[in-house]
Amino acid sequence: MNVFSEIAKVRQRLGEARRLGKTVGLVPTMGSFHDGHLSLIAKAVADNDEVVVSVYVNPAQFGPTEDFDGYPRDIDRDVRLAARQGATIVFAPADSEMYPVGHRTIVSPETIAKALCGKSRPGHFDGVATVCAKLFNIIRPDRVYMGLKDYQQVLVVRQMIRDLDFDISVVAVPTVRDAEGLALSSRNRYLSEEERLAAYCLPRALADAQALLERGVTDVSLVRRKVLEQVDENGLVELEYLSFCDPHTLVEVESIQGDTLVAIAARVGRARLIDNCVLKAGELAASRRSAGSGGC
Ligand code: AMP
Repeated sequence: MNVFSEIAKVRQRLGEARRLGKTVGLVPTMGSFHDGHLSLIAKAVADNDEVVVSVYVNPAQFGPTEDFDGYPRDIDRDVRLAARQGATIVFAPADSEMYPVGHRTIVSPETIAKALCGKSRPGHFDGVATVCAKLFNIIRPDRVYMGLKDYQQVLVVRQMIRDLDFDISVVAVPTVRDAEGLALSSRNRYLSEEERLAAYCLPRALADAQALLERGVTDVSLVRRKVLEQVDENGLVELEYLSFCDPHTLVEVESIQGDTLVAIAARVGRARLIDNCVLKAGELAASRRSAGSGGC
C-alpha cells in the first residue's frame, strides 16, 4: 500500500492506474478509524481495483468553537487498518497542501445544506463540499463511499456532484452501530462511561419513533412529544434537534404520509452526536397491517 501526502505524487500514481484501465474508489475520512470507516473501505475494495482512503481533518468544516484541535488523530493506526482492509492508497495531506496560502475558493451548497446540522453549524457544509470537490479533482474517483450516519452530508455531496458535473457515483453505506445501537463515531471517544450510557437514548429515540409510526401514529408532534419523554432522563443529553423530514429535500413534515427521515442530533458531554433512520412508507404500512392497526 502507498501513503502519499502530496497531491502531485498521488495524482501520478493514479494516472498510471487509470492508464491501465483500473477503477478507482475514494473513501474520504477524517481518520481515527472505527468499524464504520472499515465497512466503507471494505465495500470500496469489493467494488474497485484501486481504493484511495483520504485521511484529513478538514479545518474548513469546523466552526471556531468546535473540536478541531482536540479531534482524535492516529495516522499510523489508520494506515495499518486501511492496508489490512485492502485499500491500495492512503492520501493524508497537510493543511498547507490542501489550503495553501492564497486559497480563496469555497463551494457553498444551498438549501439542503441549510437544514438540520446546517442550522447549528453554519459554514460546515461549505467546508465539506469544498474539501470533497478538491478530493474529487485530485483523486478523480469513479465512485465515492460515504456513510448514511451522515445522511445530510450524502445528500449535499450528491447535489454537488450533479450541480458541478462530476462524473462520480456516490455509494451510501449503512450505519455501523455498537451492541446497544449507538452509531459508531470518532467522537464517541470523548464520552465517559456514564455519558456513553446516556447516549444510548439516541438510537432508542429513533427506535421509539419507528415503533409509534409502525403502530399507525402519523401526527409528528405527538410522536415527537412521546419520544422526547425518553430522552435525557439524567440531564447529560442536550438535544439539538429531532427532525421528521422528507428524505430527499429535508423539508420538515407535520404528518407522516410517505418515506420519512427521522434525524437526531445532541450534545453529550464534549461530543456532538448525530444519528438517523429512514422509514419507508411501504414498510410502515406493512407493519401497521400486520400489527392489526388498519393503517393510517
Ligand atoms: P468521518 O471520519 O467521521 O468524517 O467519517 C468518514 C466517513 O465514514 C463518512 O462518510 C461517514 O459518514 C462514515 N461513517 C462515520 N461513522 C460511520 C458509521 N458508524 N457507520 C458507517 N459509516 C460511518
